[in-house]
Parts: sequence; C-alpha cells; structure tokens
Amino acid sequence: MKRIVFAALFLTGCGDFVPIDQANLPAPSSSQKPPTYLTLPGPDPGGGLPFTSLHFVVEGYGTVPQDKAQTVEKIFSEITDETGLYSFKPEENYRVVIYQTQEEFLRKTGQPQWSGGMKTGRGVFTYEQDNVDATLAHEITHIIFGDLLGQEEHKHRWLNEGLAVYIEAHFDRWKRFDDVQAEWHERIHSAPLLTMDAILDFKPYSEKDREVGIWYATVADLTAFLIQNGGNLNFSLFLKALAAGFTPDQALVQAYPGKYASLNELYAVWKGTL
Ligand SMILES: [Zn+2]
Repeated sequence: MKRIVFAALFLTGCGDFVPIDQANLPAPSSSQKPPTYLTLPGPDPGGGLPFTSLHFVVEGYGTVPQDKAQTVEKIFSEITDETGLYSFKPEENYRVVIYQTQEEFLRKTGQPQWSGGMKTGRGVFTYEQDNVDATLAHEITHIIFGDLLGQEEHKHRWLNEGLAVYIEAHFDRWKRFDDVQAEWHERIHSAPLLTMDAILDFKPYSEKDREVGIWYATVADLTAFLIQNGGNLNFSLFLKALAAGFTPDQALVQAYPGKYASLNELYAVWKGTL
C-alpha cells in the first residue's frame, strides 16, 4: 500500500499496513467463494469502458482507461528492464482501477484515510491524483514481485519495498530520479545507519513514521545499488533464486558469483558507497 502522507514529506511508502495489501492471505479452498479483496468494485456504471492493453485491463472514467493504459505499459517495461526480466509475461492481465476521487477510493476499498493506493493479488486500486503514476508504479511493482516470488514473497519484505520505491522514483511527476536518490541519502544519514539485521527485522506498520521513512530510503538505495552495480540480468537471477526458495545468501552467490557471498557482504559494499 502506498501512503500519501509520505508524498508530502519525503517519499511515498507502502507499509502493508492492513491485510488487504498483504497477498499472504491463505488461498481460498475450492469450496469457498473468493475473498472480497479480489473482487473490489470498479468505477460506477457508465463511468467508462475498460481498456485492455498487452498486460493490463484498466478501468476508470472518461478517457482515463486509454490514457493510463499507456502509462502502466511503460511502467511494466521499466520494471522488466530494470530487473532483467525481459521475457516475463503474466498469466493473465493485471487489473488497474482508477477511481475518480479519493472519497470513491476510500469508500470502495475500505482503505484508511492516508492511503493513496493499494494492491490485491492481481489488481491495483487508486484514484485520479497529482502523482498517480508514481503510485501506479509502486503498486504494479508489488504485483509483479508477488507474481514472480509466489509463496516466497513475504520473506523478502525489504526487497519488495526497496524495488517498489526504486521503480516509483522513475515515475515521480516532479522530481528526477537523481533528486529522489539524493533525498534517500539525506534521510539515511539523518540517523545511525540501520544494520542489515535491522533492515530484515523491520516491520513498517509497527514503527514510527520517521523510522519508516528511514527504512524505506535504506531499502530503496540498497536495491538501487544491487541493480545498478550488480547488473540487471544478475538481478533477475537473484529474484528467480529467491522464488525457487533459496535463502538470500544462497541466491546472491548464484546470481552474483564471486561478487557477493552473503547479504552482509552486499551490505558492507553498499555501505562503502554512502
Ligand atoms: Zn509498498
């Protein structure tokens, strides 16, 4: 989930604050109806026709579906380029719903007031707002990460959020990527550096806003470092090894042979760049 409170302060964050953003809910057995979080209502009748693009079905009002279909496809390309997952294709199109107002979004999704967007298993929900492309980028990254990692998704929260914030930074309406990264560094240096253990143990929903902001900046920068320094294709191997159930240390050894033998080693090299 994406928290709009951070948008004004520093960066947007997605805290997985409420269960609806957590795709770790048990899969329904065949005798049960699908849970409601998978069947949230779309726009009001007569709003606009859904637009189907290569990887998405976009719902919204007026020309929003067509307009935003281009954006979400651009986001998809950015994610697959950055992560080296060039041949990745979802089994079925993802659903993107863009409500007209915040009021409609809150009413139909049951999200808390501060939420600017959310995801379910295969759907993204947000509303027409200033920096909506950044929100879409953040949540679509989560969907693809979840799709790729399956059951392993929730073991790697730092990487999931790090990647979402990293991709989001490429779609910020007001700031260039370098400026966003400079803000991450500022935030990281505003407190003692989080240790690797602290990064892994952090539970965004149980911490104070300031600490949450530092954690998001830290995981985003660490992920950016891994992609930019280690290579996109190696990053795709890292994700695939995690999806296969290997530990992060094992996955690093497989994906970055001779480079990083463990998370602690990666952390040490990254720390040297700060
Ligand atoms: Zn998030």
